[in-house]
Amino acid sequence: MESRIDLEALCAERGLRITDQRRVIARVISDADDHPDVEELYRRASAIDAKISIATVYRTVRLFEEAGILDRHDFGDGRARYEASPEAHHDHLIDVETGKVIEFVDPELEALQKVIAEKLGYRLVDHRMELYGVALSRDD
Ligand SMILES: [Zn+2]
Repeated sequence: MESRIDLEALCAERGLRITDQRRVIARVISDADDHPDVEELYRRASAIDAKISIATVYRTVRLFEEAGILDRHDFGDGRARYEASPEAHHDHLIDVETGKVIEFVDPELEALQKVIAEKLGYRLVDHRMELYGVALSRDD
């Protein structure tokens, strides 16, 4: 969750050709502790290298996604959001008022999902869990 994933190293591992622009985009994604959309990635990447176009960001994001090193999320606002594929699984709670995304892992929930899949005759291999909520109290 807080641990930085080195996308650049993962690119090398998967034999992806890494250009200077891809390196910048990889670093921006690795450094993100939120779940930015393409426009936000473009803003951050172009602040480092003004020659990076939004088309390049789109292409690179798709490339990383196809290589399985980037996860795409849809948190209900119609914008695709990205994060480096986490080494350890986590789920998301989305604050519907602020758009804030909170990462969590709950062992009971993980176990329950396995049980449900098995009851339905399946071995669970993956899942996505998104909770949408409003804060019970807001002091910020
Ligand atoms: Zn996440």
